[in-house]
Amino acid sequence: MALTGLEIYKLLPKTNCKECGFPTCLAFALKLAAKSAELSACPRVSDEGKAALESASAPPIRLVTIASGEREFQIGNEVVLFRHDKTFFHQPGLALRVKDTDPLDKVAATVAEASVYFAERVGFCLSMDAMAVENASGDAATFAKCVEVVKANSVLPLILMAKDPASIEAALAVGAGSKPLIHAADSENWEAMAALATRAGCPLAVKARGLEELAVLAEQLTKAGVQDLVLDPGARTPAETLAVFTQLRRLAIKKNFRLLGFPTISFPGEGAESAEQEAIAAAQDICKYSGVIVLDHFDPATLYGLLTLRQNIYTDPQKPIQVTPDIYRFNDPEPNAPVMITTNFSLTYFSVAGEVETSGVPAWLLIADAEGLSVLTAWAAGKFSAESIAKFVKGSGINDLVERKVLILPGMVATLSGELEEELPDWKIAVGPREAVDLQGYLKELRRAIKETPH
Ligand code: SF4
Repeated sequence: MALTGLEIYKLLPKTNCKECGFPTCLAFALKLAAKSAELSACPRVSDEGKAALESASAPPIRLVTIASGEREFQIGNEVVLFRHDKTFFHQPGLALRVKDTDPLDKVAATVAEASVYFAERVGFCLSMDAMAVENASGDAATFAKCVEVVKANSVLPLILMAKDPASIEAALAVGAGSKPLIHAADSENWEAMAALATRAGCPLAVKARGLEELAVLAEQLTKAGVQDLVLDPGARTPAETLAVFTQLRRLAIKKNFRLLGFPTISFPGEGAESAEQEAIAAAQDICKYSGVIVLDHFDPATLYGLLTLRQNIYTDPQKPIQVTPDIYRFNDPEPNAPVMITTNFSLTYFSVAGEVETSGVPAWLLIADAEGLSVLTAWAAGKFSAESIAKFVKGSGINDLVERKVLILPGMVATLSGELEEELPDWKIAVGPREAVDLQGYLKELRRAIKETPH
């Protein structure tokens, strides 16, 4: 079990020296118990206290790294059941599975296409994380050849899937990257798989039917020296997977059950009858609580949906993704170009920026600090008010850059225009469209009107 604040307090020096930034040792202990402070902030804790506290404060779910050269992703190290309790830290890796029974030219083409897929969203590059290669043939040499082809066409980390340790050994021998995930040790092969994983320094998935068998195997493997485990509890249907992954997360977080305190792996395609069903199951796995999701279909449209969902679930709910408040220039604006203003919520910025850029109309975009909230939310919270907008406009420097002083408000806050005209007497206030998607037409029309206006 995790230590309580009082138990932690007993291990601290009790000098109340304040060097940790808290007024008393007890206050610091309570913060440590809530996992909102780091033990390293106290320079006076004894070595014995440190050792006891560090082992007690180890994350309930171990952090596991899967890598190939410079490409790597980390899973685990989660501390809450629900993202609104704090945040989720390490998003699940998305992998695509190919089989060594597929024609090698097809494997090469699929892997090459999926590996280079990426999408840009709110300033982040979203892409796949790994390639899984399955030894469906049962033959070690065929498997090794397939792994070679995958490595030649992808820089992504690998998941090596075979029942036979000899096949895994053959794949490792041809160079499967620095830290591929081996899938999987089971009740029959665990000793040989543990020896391979230890020798190669690779994380090892452990597969069992049910949590009891999984805990027994996990204990045997850790005693054999494998510390980086990934759990495959054998669930394949969405209902089974949801139930067992939730049990695993609860056991790790609520009960601090160390034997099962490892990230998980799921195979949504195995319980699905179509690519669409697989996508739905994968979406569930992103939310609850898979560490690696191995897909059997690659479709850019579906993948974009999954990557977007994953990005949303794994952002900090208390810190919306933001852009820097500033003046942004589009299409080389001149002093009489339109001036728009909106909030610094990333999704708002990128929606507006995309439309303005595509319109080809030169324009100035003021991004005001609204603590990362969207326009309506910020307005409702009083963070995008006439007063705050006027303050930002006056301090932004836009007055020195433009001659045509017309400020375009988002249509959703048209109600601010009267008050804003009083706050900014040198400016005329106009109301733009409610939705970013209507900006292109609005700006083109505005540009025409500006050109026709006699000076
Ligand atoms: S730095 Fe350590 S000893 Fe000093 S108040 Fe904080 S917890 Fe107590």
